[in-house]
Amino acid sequence: MNSFDVVVIGGGVVGAAAFHRLAQQGVKVALLEKDRLCQGATSYSGGIVRCFHSDPVLSDMAVQGYHYYRQFAEYTDSHCSLTETGFIYLDKPQRNQALRSEVDRLSSVVEMHWLTDQEAKKQFPFLNISSGQGVVYEPGAGFMDTYETTIAWAKAGERAGGVVIEGCQVERLLMAKDQFQGLQTNMGPIYAAKVVVCAGPLSTALLEQAGLQTSVYAQEIQVNRFKSDVFPKQHPAYIDDEYNLNGRPDREGAVLVGYPTFNRQLDLPKSPIAANHTQLICEQADKRFSWAEAMQSLGGYRCFDSYTQHGHGEIKFVNENENIVVAAGFSGGGFKLAPAIAQRVDELINHK
Ligand SMILES: Cc1cc2nc3c(=O)[nH]c(=O)nc-3n(C[C@H](O)[C@H](O)[C@H](O)COP(=O)(O)OP(=O)(O)OC[C@H]3O[C@@H](n4cnc5c(N)ncnc54)[C@H](O)[C@@H]3O)c2cc1C
Repeated sequence: MNSFDVVVIGGGVVGAAAFHRLAQQGVKVALLEKDRLCQGATSYSGGIVRCFHSDPVLSDMAVQGYHYYRQFAEYTDSHCSLTETGFIYLDKPQRNQALRSEVDRLSSVVEMHWLTDQEAKKQFPFLNISSGQGVVYEPGAGFMDTYETTIAWAKAGERAGGVVIEGCQVERLLMAKDQFQGLQTNMGPIYAAKVVVCAGPLSTALLEQAGLQTSVYAQEIQVNRFKSDVFPKQHPAYIDDEYNLNGRPDREGAVLVGYPTFNRQLDLPKSPIAANHTQLICEQADKRFSWAEAMQSLGGYRCFDSYTQHGHGEIKFVNENENIVVAAGFSGGGFKLAPAIAQRVDELINHK
C-alpha cells in the first residue's frame, strides 16, 4: 500500500489533472495532499478558460486546455461544464499589430475575433477604450468551477485505479546518494520510483530541501468582488494588460476584479485583503469600466500562486536520474493550462 510507481504531491488542479492522466495510462499512482483536495491557489482561482495570450507558447497550451474543458464531462464522467461568458483581452494600442497576428494564427483553431474600437464600443458599451485601440474577443470562452473540476479529476483518477491520500504532508524527499527513494510524510514513508511535485508555491522549498533547484517562486494575488446596479447582463471575462486587471462575472451577478500585488514574501496562513490594494483595484477598474463609478465592494481574497519569470511554468525533470518532475509556476494562469500540463507530465514520466 505504501509503494507506487509514481507519487504526485499536491491536490490542486495541476496535481489532480496529472494524477488522472497517469492513472488512465495504467500507472500505479498516488495523489498526496497535506490538506483536503483543492484548498490551495486552485480554490481561489477564477477558473477562466480562454485561449488568447500574447505569448504563443501559452496560447497553444491554452487551446489544448480549452478543447479538453469543452469535453470535460465526457473525459471524467462528471457533471462539470464550462459557463460561457465570452472573453476580451485588451492591451495598449501600440501592441495592436502583434495581437492581431496572434488572433489570425489562433482563429483557425478556435473562434476568435479582432474588434476595432468602434466594434468593441458597440458590443461592450461599458468599456473605456481609446481611439484605435482594438480588443480581442473569444465568444466561446468562460469559466469552470475550480473545486468541482479538481474533485472530478481526482475521483476519475481513483476510478481508473489511482489512490488519493488526503491529510498526508510530504515532509521531505528521501534520497540515497542522489537517488530518489520515496517520501517521508506525516503518515510514515511512502516509496515510489518517480515523483511529480505539484505543490504550487511550496514546490520550491520541498525541492531545495533535497538540494534541487527550480526557478519557481511565490507571488500573491488579490481579487475583489463588486456589485453594481449598472453591470451589463452579459459581462465577459477579461484580461487587461494595459491596466493590469483581470476578472470575470460570477454566477450571482457580481464581478471579480484582480490586480497583481507583486508581493513575493510567502507568508502562510493567508492574509485578508489589503485596503490600499482594494483602493488600487478600484482606481484601475475606474479607468477601464464605466460601471466602476457605481460599484459596491463585497470584499475579496488574497492567495499565493506559483510563478516563473516567463509564465510558462516548469514542467521538467529536476535531477539527473530523471525521476523527479516539477510541474509548477504557471503564474496566475495554471487552471486553463492543466490539461496540457498533465499531458507533458505523462510524456516525461512515460518517456513518450
Ligand atoms: C486568485 C486567483 C485567481 C486565478 N484565476 C485564474 C483563472 O481565472 N484562470 C486560470 O487559468 N488560472 C487562474 N489562476 C491560477 C491558477 O488557479 C493556478 O495557477 C492553479 O490553480 C495552480 O494549481 P496548482 O495545483 O499548481 O497549485 P495549488 O492549487 O496551490 O495546489 C498545490 C497543492 O499542494 C499542496 N501541498 C503543498 N505542499 C505540500 C506537501 N508538502 N505535501 C502535500 N501537499 C502539499 C497544497 O496544500 C495545495 O493543495 C488564479 C490564481 C489565483 C490565486
